[in-house]
This record gives sequence, structure tokens and C-alpha cells, in this order.
Amino acid sequence: MAESEGFPLAEPGLWVERVGDRTFPAGRPALFLDRDGTINLDTGYPDDPAAMALRDGIAPVIAAANQHGVPVVVVTNQSGIARGYFGWDAFARVNGRVLELLAEQDAFVDMVLACAYHEAGSGPLAIADHPMRKPNPGMLLEAGRRLGLDIERSLIVGDKPADMEAGRRAGLARGWLVDCEGSMMGGLSMLPLRDATDLDGLLTAIRSL
Ligand SMILES: [Mg+2]
Repeated sequence: MAESEGFPLAEPGLWVERVGDRTFPAGRPALFLDRDGTINLDTGYPDDPAAMALRDGIAPVIAAANQHGVPVVVVTNQSGIARGYFGWDAFARVNGRVLELLAEQDAFVDMVLACAYHEAGSGPLAIADHPMRKPNPGMLLEAGRRLGLDIERSLIVGDKPADMEAGRRAGLARGWLVDCEGSMMGGLSMLPLRDATDLDGLLTAIRSL
């Protein structure tokens, strides 16, 4: 695929990008974050970098992880690519803008994984229930292998139950779900992320890793 040349694709539907040059000893837990609706406001299959804006309060969460030596890993489903709405080139521009907005607030991501597979697609990306697509844990486990992470102590923040389910399937114990009630999801304790108190709880959890 000509459009994918030069991009960090581990396979046709999987972007795996190591960002920056921070290094981490083996065995660190990570902060996993969904992207759309969690880091940036969800505009629905975002393909325009100029339209990207951060959600309030998320940059300090990432900055806290940076300050405490916790690798920050973005895990994002991008079925808009399988569906033919946009290509990896647009993903690259949008994602670059999100990372730029974070950097303006001294918040840095260490790895980005994006899964384009979806059953509604066509060609090589038309795969149902791909192991890399959340709620499957493939992206978290791939990051775990590449960064030598302590997966069980890692945290995940997302805005959809599928994000929490991916965390549960990967073996995480704690997740934060944007604008939702807390509850248990199997072995994963799912905490709400709605207000400043919830954000403080997440910051405390990051600082205690
Ligand atoms: Mg989301």
C-alpha cells in the first residue's frame, strides 16, 4: 500500500510508534490511555488536525506519569481507516497534533499503538474481532512486550467499556472510565473519572506506582 510507506506499521492494520527517547527499566507499570474521547475531545472519526482539542485535566495526568518514570502508552482503535474514511496519512497528522498539544503542556507520550482493523472494512483490514482491536488486549500486550512492562500494575484510562475490557483481558487491576459510574469488571476495579476529586485519585495512583 503506497499510502502506508514511511509509517511505523508493524502490519497493515497496526501502527506501533516509539515516541521520544525516554528510557525505562524493565518491570515498570504503564499508564495506558485511549485517545479519542479520553485525551482529545471525540469529534467522531477525527481526520482534521486543526479540529483537535484536549479534554480538560488529561495533560496533567500524563505529565504526572512522566515525572514519576511511568511509561505513557496510547492505545487507539481507528476503524475509520478500515472503513475508508481516511488513511494512515491523516491518522499521522491528527495524532501528531494531539502529541503537539500535549507537549505544549509538558506532557509526553512514549508509545502509540493504533488498530485499523474492523469487520466493516474492505481488503486486508476487514477482520472481525482482531486480537489488536479493543476490547481485545493485543495492543496493551504488544506494548508490554516492547517496553518490558509490569502489566498487572499498569493503569488504563478510557471513555468506553471496551477500553476497560481490554485492560481486564490484559490483566490490569485498575481502570478509570470517563464520565461513568465505578464498578467491578471481573478482576478490574473500574473507577469513575468525572470531576476534580476523581482526577486527584488518578494522580495519586500514578504517583504511587
Ligand atoms: Mg475513546
